[in-house]
Amino acid sequence: MKAAIISVGTELLFGQITNTNSVFLSQQLNLLGFDVLYHYTVGDNPGRLRKMLETAFADCDLAVTTGGLGPTQDDLTKEVVASVLCDEIVFDKEALERIERVFAKLHREMSENNLKQAYLPSRAAIFYNNAGTAPGFALEGGGKTAICLPGPPREMTMMFELQAKPYLESKSDGSIFYRMVCTFGLGESALETALLDLIDGQTDPTLATYAKDGECALRVASKRKTAEEARQAVDGMTRLVMERIGDYVYSCDDEGLNEAVAKKLIEKNISVSCVESCTGGLFAEMLTKVPGVSAVFDRGIVTYSNRAKVEELGVSEKTLEKFGAVSVETAIEMARGLKEKTGSRLCVSVTGIAGPGGGSLEKPVGTFCVCAIFDDQEEAREIRQRDIDRNVNRNYFMLYMMHMVYKMIS
Ligand code: ATP
Ligand code: MG
Repeated sequence: MKAAIISVGTELLFGQITNTNSVFLSQQLNLLGFDVLYHYTVGDNPGRLRKMLETAFADCDLAVTTGGLGPTQDDLTKEVVASVLCDEIVFDKEALERIERVFAKLHREMSENNLKQAYLPSRAAIFYNNAGTAPGFALEGGGKTAICLPGPPREMTMMFELQAKPYLESKSDGSIFYRMVCTFGLGESALETALLDLIDGQTDPTLATYAKDGECALRVASKRKTAEEARQAVDGMTRLVMERIGDYVYSCDDEGLNEAVAKKLIEKNISVSCVESCTGGLFAEMLTKVPGVSAVFDRGIVTYSNRAKVEELGVSEKTLEKFGAVSVETAIEMARGLKEKTGSRLCVSVTGIAGPGGGSLEKPVGTFCVCAIFDDQEEAREIRQRDIDRNVNRNYFMLYMMHMVYKMIS
């Protein structure tokens, strides 16, 4: 089945907002087995939206729109979609009741124009909005399907996951199953090289690599008659993949390194503390993003200055003078000091140069040192990451720590 994505909103054309909706929808539709042929972006203009829909439906079976479902004058997606698919707009009592409930809960007066959101195409399958007020819907006509979703990304993604996706799955002529094999420490090209013959010869399961911020994921997907057959095909291929690159894999369940690490720490009941310099608390932040980690996370300390490293952790001034704040020696003393202070089974430290300034010939921007102590096992390293962007570096340092910890406790 062929699909197009139509993003509606004049702000998009002005460049005031980034079109994240189309990225999300493209990924999701591909996973569902659709061939996404076009991305269109159009302003809040009924004539041009109509033209886009007609153009999309000339080649595609499905058009997914986002935006323009709200209560204001410029929100006109549903009227145009209904007209293109030869339907009419009618009052939907349940939609109104739901919108009224949202306002009542917020103790706010519902303004007159919100009524507009209770008018929907008569034949549509309505997707009531759990995160906002504007309902979305699926509408079929003349062998074509339109799925209309709200613009705000949080509402759109939730509605897609909970309502549009099941709707599309029920339309699909087969069952798709996929796994995201998540790796760290292997670049996208190295990953592809390691799997080249598998990728080259692919028909089903298919393999596709995705690089994101130092991590790299591999999607293994299969479409078969039944979900079970698809799952078996994916698992078979995943085993082959693991034989090649298993050392770099931290999850086959589409999760972040922080989630994989937190899950393991909780599962094995390993208490953990961290001390950070250049990452300014990012490691602690990412770990504490995971629900339930309070069972094992004791504390995160940021020791940015030399003085803090001495006062908080007992790092010796001699070490700082002789080897510098960014050195394996300092990282080790930071982690040991933390162990002494907290008694956590796992203590991890990081110190580095995130840039853009502060680098030298000997220690260029991107140099960082990590030490992890797990019970009586201690590991310390100096690593060089070749990037000059401060935030890219800080994120990479954090991921590296996560991965080092992951390996240690696995
Ligand atoms: P509302 O009820 O908020 O008016 P709507 O369905 O009418 O919702 P729009 O008015 O088109 O949606 O967009 C509302 C907001 O959603 C935009 O200001 C923008 O912040 C966000 N948004 C819209 N489209 C996109 C998109 N394609 N990518 C990312 N964000 C978007
Ligand atoms: Mg709007």
